[in-house]
Order: sequence, then structure tokens, then C-alpha cells
Amino acid sequence: MNYNIAVIEGDGIGPEIVNSALEVLTAVGKKFKFDFVFKKVRAGGNAIDHTGTPLPQETVKTCLEANSVLLGAVGGPKWDVLPGHLRPEKALLGIRKELGLYANLRPARLLPELKDACPLKKEVADAGFDMIIVRELTGGMYFGESGRREGKYGPEAYDTECYSEMEIERIGVTAFELARTRSKKLISIDKANVLESSRLWREVMHRLAEKYPDVTLTDMLVDNAAMQLVKNPKQFDVVVTSNMFGDILSDEASQITGSIGLLPSASLGETKRGLYEPIHGSAPDIAGQDKANPIATILSAAMMLRLSLMQPEAAQFVEDAVSRVLAKGLRTADIALPGEKALSCSAMTKAILDELK
Ligand code: NAD
Repeated sequence: MNYNIAVIEGDGIGPEIVNSALEVLTAVGKKFKFDFVFKKVRAGGNAIDHTGTPLPQETVKTCLEANSVLLGAVGGPKWDVLPGHLRPEKALLGIRKELGLYANLRPARLLPELKDACPLKKEVADAGFDMIIVRELTGGMYFGESGRREGKYGPEAYDTECYSEMEIERIGVTAFELARTRSKKLISIDKANVLESSRLWREVMHRLAEKYPDVTLTDMLVDNAAMQLVKNPKQFDVVVTSNMFGDILSDEASQITGSIGLLPSASLGETKRGLYEPIHGSAPDIAGQDKANPIATILSAAMMLRLSLMQPEAAQFVEDAVSRVLAKGLRTADIALPGEKALSCSAMTKAILDELK
């Protein structure tokens, strides 16, 4: 078995963390008897420097031909002065659109070994949590009609939240299917007491629930959800929500794990091909210093093994190796407590590779 993976290292710490993940994939491939062909392509700031555009056509073509895409992170201060259409972030929106990736899956799990890093009350951290937020990625307010105009009180601006039944249904199916593989509980988050688009969201989710009698669906208003996430995060398992609510809530959920360098993500569409990346950015402040935590990218590669390459055992093998390394007390600087010794990116990668042997 040969898997064709498009690899976008990106900017800042991107090359360091992506190469750690490639070493892990190669090692796990050897163990489980499959091979990878990694095709490195440019996107983001380094693509602007080399080709004048954040998302070259060649990159899109390679991604479309691949089984999946692994991405580090894009952006950095060097390109912040460029006009909007030339900014590195345009590459991310472009790839999502070109690959039709409408579902963003962001797990937020408090690892027992890292309870001390959780900013919540001790008893909440002790209870632990393990949730996955399914965020709609290509609809809603970020893509609705927007503009400026002259209003009753002078100049004004507007953005529109608009969802079609089709868009709600397809993200709903992703979430129900995922809930089936976990605790069979799904919480759908909306603002149906105020927004018409949320009332349609709720209607469609309930219609879908009839097709998934084994999954319990609960509605929750977004303001309550923001509160419940810090009060009792353990109640959440699979969560489905719109683009904007998901953007905000998934950042809140990631922060309560206390560790930006640990969290992976997957973006999926109609096909098995996905885009896998850590949730953090390109960390220009530590780029090129071998200080970055590679675990979020390594766990993103594990998600790719499970969700796109259908290699759940290999995925579990990688996740277990990471857990064992953390259980041994090995830490990179971002997750080390004051006074604790911090490993470099390459030393943490080596520790994980040793666990895979
Ligand atoms: P960031 O996530 O890059 O960094 C925030 C802080 O977390 C920094 O102190 C950084 O050193 C630290 N950090 C991040 N990842 C780490 C890791 N793996 N190991 C150790 N420490 C880590 O966010 P930012 O500083 O707001 O953004 C920097 C650049 O990244 C910007 O250009 C931004 O647009 C871009 N960005 C890209 C993506 C993406 O490619 N998906 C996402 C977010 C931000």
C-alpha cells in the first residue's frame, strides 16, 4: 500500500514540526507495512517569496491528486504588510475551497499527564474531558453577503449569516457519523432563540436525528455553551456548530487544555481526502530555534491515519506513543512547568520515535 501525501511545510516553525511528523509517519508505515510518497509543495509566505502568490496552482494540483494533505502553518510578520489578496492566510481559505473541505474537526482532550496546565478549577481538571468540535467551515457569516453602506445614522457595515439546508445537513451527517463512533451523544450549538438561520439549523439537525436513533441529540444555545465549557467541559463529547460559533468555541475549548502545542485538527469534505494541521500558527518568535512542540502536528498525522487513510491501529499506535512520552514527564518548553527541563523539537521527536520502535 502506497499513500500519496501532499506536504506543505509553510512558514516559521512549519518546516521543523512537519518534518517531525513525516519521520513519525515513515516509522509507523514501516511497522504497519505501508509506504508514503511525500510531495512537498509551497503555500503561504514562502510561496509568495518564490512564486509571487500565496497558493500556486501547482500546490492545488498536487493536493487534489494526493490521498491527503499535511500542513504546518503559514504566515509571519514579514508578509503582514501585503494587501489582503496576497496574504499567506489566503492560501488556507483557497485550499479549503479547492478541496471542498466543509467540516473542521478539532479535538480538545485534557491529557491526564497535563492536568496541572489546565486553567480551570482543580476538581474540573481532575474530572478531565475529551471532546471533538465539528465546525462548519465554508458557510455562514464568513462567506455571506457583506459590505458598507450609508445608513440611518451615517456609514455602516454589515455581514450576513446564511445557511442552506444542504450545508447544514452535510455537516450534521459528519457529526452524527462521528458520534456513532464515540459515546453516541451529540450536542448541537446554535442561537435559535434569536436567529432564523439557527432555527433552520435546529430543524435540520432534528430531522437528521430521526435517521440516527442510536445517537442522542441535545440542543444548546451558544451563550450557554461558552459558559458550560469552563464550568463542566466533561459533559461534551461530539459537538456540532456553525462556522462562526465553532471558530470561537473551538479556541475556548483548546485553551482549557492548557497547551496550544498539543492540539491537532482535520478538515474534511465529501471525499476521504483531508487537510491535517496543528491548531497553532507559525510561531515566528521561536522559528528556526528547534524549540517548537511537534506533538500537535504528529497528532494531526495520526488523525490523517485514522480518518483519511483508514489505518486506525497505526493512528492509535502513534497516539499511545505520545501519551507514554508525556507520562514519562518529557516536555517541550511550551508545556514544561517552571523549573522543569525542556526538550528541543528534535529531542521530543526522537523520544516519540523511540516509543514507536
Ligand atoms: P501562534 O500560534 O503562531 O503563536 C502563539 C504563541 O504560541 C507564540 O508564543 C508561539 O511561540 C507559541 N506556539 C505556537 N505553536 C507552538 C508550538 N508548536 N510549540 C511551542 N510554542 C508554540 O499564533 P500567532 O503568534 O498569533 O501567529 C503567528 C503567525 O501564524 C501569524 O502570521 C498568523 O497569521 C499565523 N497563523 C497561522 C495559522 C495557520 O497556518 N493555520 C493559524 C494561526 C495563526
